Amino acid sequence: MNYNIEKINQIGKMVAEVIEEAVMQTGEEKVRISDIEMGLRETLQAVGQSALKQFLENGEDGPETQIKCSCGGQLHYQRRRAATIWSVFGKVVYKRAYYAGCECQTGQAPVDSRYGIEAGKVTAGLAHLIALSGIKESFEEGRKWLKEYLLFEVSENTVRSETQKMSELQRQADQELVKAMQDEKSLQQRERSQPVGCDILSGSIDAAKVRIEPRDPREKVLENRESWRDLKAGCWYEGEVVPVPQQSTRQKEKRQREEIVLRARNKKYFCDIAEAQEFGKVLWATGCAVGADRARLLVFICDGAVWIWNLIAQYFPNAVQIVDWYHAADRLKRIAEEAFPTLEERQPWLHQVTEDLWQGRVELVIEACRLLAKNSKWAQQSLTYYSNNMERMRYDQFRASNLLIGSGVIESGCKQIVTQRLKLPGAQWHVDGAILTAKARTAWMNGEWQKLVSARSLLPLAA
Ligand SMILES: [Zn+2]
Repeated sequence: MNYNIEKINQIGKMVAEVIEEAVMQTGEEKVRISDIEMGLRETLQAVGQSALKQFLENGEDGPETQIKCSCGGQLHYQRRRAATIWSVFGKVVYKRAYYAGCECQTGQAPVDSRYGIEAGKVTAGLAHLIALSGIKESFEEGRKWLKEYLLFEVSENTVRSETQKMSELQRQADQELVKAMQDEKSLQQRERSQPVGCDILSGSIDAAKVRIEPRDPREKVLENRESWRDLKAGCWYEGEVVPVPQQSTRQKEKRQREEIVLRARNKKYFCDIAEAQEFGKVLWATGCAVGADRARLLVFICDGAVWIWNLIAQYFPNAVQIVDWYHAADRLKRIAEEAFPTLEERQPWLHQVTEDLWQGRVELVIEACRLLAKNSKWAQQSLTYYSNNMERMRYDQFRASNLLIGSGVIESGCKQIVTQRLKLPGAQWHVDGAILTAKARTAWMNGEWQKLVSARSLLPLAA
């Protein structure tokens, strides 16, 4: 929108006068800029309230004697009736023409429907900020944070319910995508419309534990139990080479080890608390949305849980599968620590096997573990691990093809969803609330929050 600068300057002059008067009245000798700033914020907030009220009251064409009801019947003019809304400026009370008397027994205020206002509720603009605070912080922290920014209070419950409303939109979007990507017709339509995929696309999947409160409080007392559920999360992304001047110290170390320094870009996260088969549908649907099925090369880098490889094999059988390098190498450290009591014995062994693993010589790694299997439980167990994942550990070949070999993207994703939100102090979740908040948070992480904001402002209003 464009604004009339001349008028803005006039208003500015008037606001400055209001502040000056207020300062004079305090009788304080020394006034600081922070006082002026706070005074301005409070004044402009009051100006916003007054302007919004006037806008809504003036924006109306004079009352008609009767108008058409959405049910097809007739509504009759009653009177100008007051309504309250909570906007980003705070509470606004305005009067607008109100019609009633239809057989369907619902009343209507044309101004409200015209601007998408739900009387008695928060506006879409405020809902957006409230929900944002609710996905970034605990609901209680969100409430405190909002008070500083907005200069008025909303309740913890409002933060919770607005966050869940916004989150519900993300869940609906997910469900619609899952449904469309299971539907033969939509798939065929998609086949015709988007022929090209990207060159190399990566995917990673992982899970993290979330503490769920039993729904029935009696259950909690009786069994004294908390139940933990797996939040399954995934990410689609592309790799790009990090230019040398931008490399961190850790990345420079990588370069010395001849590792290509790649970073992830265009990250698209998805998550759910669901059984593997249900999560598989989300994997497939979000994969279709980013063109995973038509990339020249599709690569999955994961930490190695069996359910993950099974899903990948089921939905993307042609994908290259890679065990996260850091998990594979860390295991060697643990074996070395268990098998050799001293550093002197440990180091040469560890150095050799790590180098073998790095060069994709998994057979030699397995052989080295076999020799230690009698003395080390870890070595014994790792025989199976390295044997089962042999083809997923050809790190020499993967590096030669410029593929990412670390699944840091998804570990960071789980941290951002679970550690930094779902596990915050005081967080107690029912499954549904945890799923909703997690999903909305991925929308934010994916840079898709604005889509939810638009959808929220289009929400069909209660009649
Ligand atoms: Zn009606």
